[in-house]
Amino acid sequence: MPKNSKGKDVAEVISSKCSGCQICIAECAFDAIIMEDGVALIDPEKCTGCTLCVSSCPSDAIIFSRPVRKRSSRASAEANGTWRGIAVFLEYKSGKVADVSWELTGKAREMADKMGTEVIGFILGGDDAACSDAIAMGCDSVYRMQSAHFESYTAGYFGEALAELTRQIKPEILLIGATHRGSEISGLCATKLETGLTADCTELDITDDRLLVMTRPTFGGNIMATILCREKRPQMSTVRPGVMKKRDRDGSRKGTVKTIYYSVVPPEYPRILQTIPSVSETADISSFKSLIVLGKGVNSSLHYGMLEELAHLLGGTLACSRPLVEAGLFPYERQVGQTGRTVSPRLYVGIGVSGAVQHMAGIQGSEKIIAINSDRNSPMVSMADYSIIGDYAEIVPLLIERIKARGAEAVLKGER
Ligand code: FAD
Repeated sequence: MPKNSKGKDVAEVISSKCSGCQICIAECAFDAIIMEDGVALIDPEKCTGCTLCVSSCPSDAIIFSRPVRKRSSRASAEANGTWRGIAVFLEYKSGKVADVSWELTGKAREMADKMGTEVIGFILGGDDAACSDAIAMGCDSVYRMQSAHFESYTAGYFGEALAELTRQIKPEILLIGATHRGSEISGLCATKLETGLTADCTELDITDDRLLVMTRPTFGGNIMATILCREKRPQMSTVRPGVMKKRDRDGSRKGTVKTIYYSVVPPEYPRILQTIPSVSETADISSFKSLIVLGKGVNSSLHYGMLEELAHLLGGTLACSRPLVEAGLFPYERQVGQTGRTVSPRLYVGIGVSGAVQHMAGIQGSEKIIAINSDRNSPMVSMADYSIIGDYAEIVPLLIERIKARGAEAVLKGER
């Protein structure tokens, strides 16, 4: 066992077992652990032998001279008891399941295959088509809760119903889309179930001992936090639309659909009597294959015409960074980033966007990133797949000309 210069035993990392999750770094109160080549490394002079890292390591990659009780074993005991499977809340609204629910079903399938467990769809109301879609999209079973009161939405009633369904089925993980509705219901549901909830995750993974590794931006997007829910079940997480990838529909998949009746009558708290569809003309930017994202560097609205032409040629639409929304130039629905929309287009073109962390947090799923920027040292340029350095007012007309001559597909395929 390694010792420090004072002859005290210190913890040791078995590098072949370390998954690089960095949970030990968060646990260590003495800054004794750093990452080197994707593996944790312990500074023996700083290590006090407190063993917090040993008990927190989900991969059993850190050892100490005396046996240490694994903290996660309590969680495993609960999880391995009656809590089983990964449930996805299938948000059903206006006759349709929200896209984010299918994105989460895809992620749940991937994790469930790793854990050797099943993917369970939870749907409040919903129709037969939604249930068969759930099977085709990756669920093994669907629990459809029925109530006469699901026709009009109230967060309290839906939150309680989802909590009740969860109590009955006992999934070890519950994933919910971070839509307006999902964000409300998830908080209520977690409170009723007295479990933890990590909101707005950008990454999810699973450890060997069935802990959900939830990653989300924190401190204004400047660092990514990795969060575990060791003690309580289910482990709950919300994920914004557009972060995870949908699986292809597979109509040949087989699964079960069970109906559960929910007879609780909602209390007489304020109820929605009528829903008036939004008349906003703003399209959903996350549904476009290309996004032309304008930043503060786009200094004249006179150029919007040519930028719209570029967007049109690439089969996309215009979006923007936060300063343009703050300046009242674009509606909030067009904002990309941590406090705006999360997008994952095939092609993201950032024009006059510097690439601040809060902006980049919303575009991580983009397949190809092109930066048009006058500053070759901007973070956006260093993160982009291709960059064009210069004044966008000169570059964009040339790009339009090139696309008209060579076709948009050439650009989408990344051909220069
Ligand atoms: P700037 O940072 O000012 O960059 C302008 C860029 O344009 C520069 O790189 C410059 O080189 C380039 N440029 C200038 N002239 C030209 C030209 N003629 N041709 C080509 N390039 C040119 N921001 C978001 O976008 N989304 C969010 O969701 C978001 N959430 C936030 C949340 C919090 C809590 C905080 C604190 C901030 C948030 N921000 C967000 C703001 C973020 O920190 C940045 O301030 C913002 O993204 C910068 O926008 P920008 O890149 O358009 O502007």
